[in-house]
Amino acid sequence: MNLESRVKATIRDIPDFPKPGILFKDITPVLADATLCRDVLDGLAAQFGSMKIDGIVGIESRGFLFGMLLAQKLQVPFLPVRKKGKLPFKTYSYEYNLEYGSAVMEMHTDSIAKGSTVIIHDDLLATGGTAAAAAELVKMQGGTVAAFSFLINLSFLNGKEKLTPHSGNILSIVNY
Ligand code: AMP
Repeated sequence: MNLESRVKATIRDIPDFPKPGILFKDITPVLADATLCRDVLDGLAAQFGSMKIDGIVGIESRGFLFGMLLAQKLQVPFLPVRKKGKLPFKTYSYEYNLEYGSAVMEMHTDSIAKGSTVIIHDDLLATGGTAAAAAELVKMQGGTVAAFSFLINLSFLNGKEKLTPHSGNILSIVNY
């Protein structure tokens, strides 16, 4: 079985979580399989090819899991994006629209040096609003997005549309 089929066979679908109508892709069975995690990490890193990268930006909270491992594998800084009010130092904030209401994501003001190139990583791409907000935070600091990296892309939700203005490199291991 190839990597995509192995991950698909391991992800657990949870209907109506966290609210009715959402089919939640639970990656905890992937995290519990050490061999599969190693292969996912290698697969994610291989997709970067020879890109020159100064940091991995990981999105709270499941983007921290493989995001930190990727940063270590590439020996570059791991740079967290968190929901409003969670980061202790001075932050940049970006507010974006959700289906109902809005959300605010933040990054420490000293996370990205001007002119640096980063990869934004999260577990799953749905509508793209969250990853696009992370890209705006990178841009505010004078950084460039080399690529977006996801374990899962729910491609029927067209999240790529929101991301292509920031980078055309939208990478994922599993597509639905
Ligand atoms: P979006 O901003 O719509 O692309 O949503 C992406 C964020 O919401 C990611 O951080 C995901 O972890 C989470 N998310 C959205 N939809 C799902 C889903 N069906 N299963 C698991 N996580 C999801």
